[in-house]
Amino acid sequence: MASLGEFDFIGQFLKSQAAQGQPFFDSPLALGIGDDAALIPPLPAGEQMVMATDMLVEGRHYRSDVDPVALGHKVLAVNLSDLAAMGARPVAFTLAAAMRSLESDWLNAFLKGLFALARTAQCPLIGGDTVGLASNAPQSFTVTVIGAVPQGKALLRSGLHVGNDVWVSGSLGDAAYAVSRCVPDAKLDWPNPRLALGHRLQGLATAAIDISDGLSAELRHLLVESCARQSSTLGATIDWQMIPLGPSLREAVEAETITADRARVFAATGGDEYELLFAAPPSVREQIAAIGIDLSLALTRIGHVTHDPAMPCGIRWSDSQGQPIRAELAAECAQGGFDHFKS
Ligand code: ADP
Ligand code: MG
Repeated sequence: MASLGEFDFIGQFLKSQAAQGQPFFDSPLALGIGDDAALIPPLPAGEQMVMATDMLVEGRHYRSDVDPVALGHKVLAVNLSDLAAMGARPVAFTLAAAMRSLESDWLNAFLKGLFALARTAQCPLIGGDTVGLASNAPQSFTVTVIGAVPQGKALLRSGLHVGNDVWVSGSLGDAAYAVSRCVPDAKLDWPNPRLALGHRLQGLATAAIDISDGLSAELRHLLVESCARQSSTLGATIDWQMIPLGPSLREAVEAETITADRARVFAATGGDEYELLFAAPPSVREQIAAIGIDLSLALTRIGHVTHDPAMPCGIRWSDSQGQPIRAELAAECAQGGFDHFKS
């Protein structure tokens, strides 16, 4: 396999492809790869800038034998998912790559996945950094994405209110179920950032977050931020049976490979889903249902926000009769969530 130099990589691979199909560069004020820094044209009046960074580290977030096309897609997708969760639209991104070597076949594949999503999302690569690593060091790819949202309209974690419905997009649990069986999975390898949904939720949702660490953990983040910002004692009640199971989990339950309860624990705690978890007042239920139909995306109401002084920031998991689910199951759900420094 041909090995490249850093400047061949930047000049022949990155610069030549980054601007293709990107209206960003129509502006005479835009400047991409090649100078000391990129230039971003001013945002339209009334918009504020949004920024997010997420890194993927070999051995930590992905296996060394990962399909490079999927990896290129995923490193941008997880960042766009953060923009989606803010209700923001993408503007541009940078890529910091730390690699042991520059192999053209692998890089071509990686950039194929990266640029395909960049073009669909209308989010051009405008710069970055490239570092060579020692032969035993883990590789990493870090994307910083820039977005825009109408001033004051961003969907924050801290906006939960008593009486809000809790909603989730798509279905959950398949990515974690695939990891547990060491098999590939469309959800795990090709996450689809819910940008259109995030955008449509502006002005309807009171709070939103993307599900990277599992429903249970992300809902707790919403509760903690909302309790802190409003000095209130909020809680959430989630209807266990309403949590939408991914297609492989549904199949496995039907084939009796796993029990329905086990499948729901996967759905309640499994990460790497990149669906949106959001809250909205009951008065906009019909509007949200209409958005789901428009986008051909399942939007499921799984519970509601309560005033819960007995269990501040707590989640109560109930069955469809409103009774608490078995204590062991609830305990498993509460343990969900990944902490890099505690695991
Ligand atoms: P500097 O020494 O000023 O950091 P570099 O040689 O690192 O310059 O980068 C040269 C140009 O190539 C810059 O415009 C930089 O943004 C771009 N670049 C370098 N690495 C990447 C990368 N991985 N992805 C996108 N652009 C990159
Ligand atoms: Mg540099």
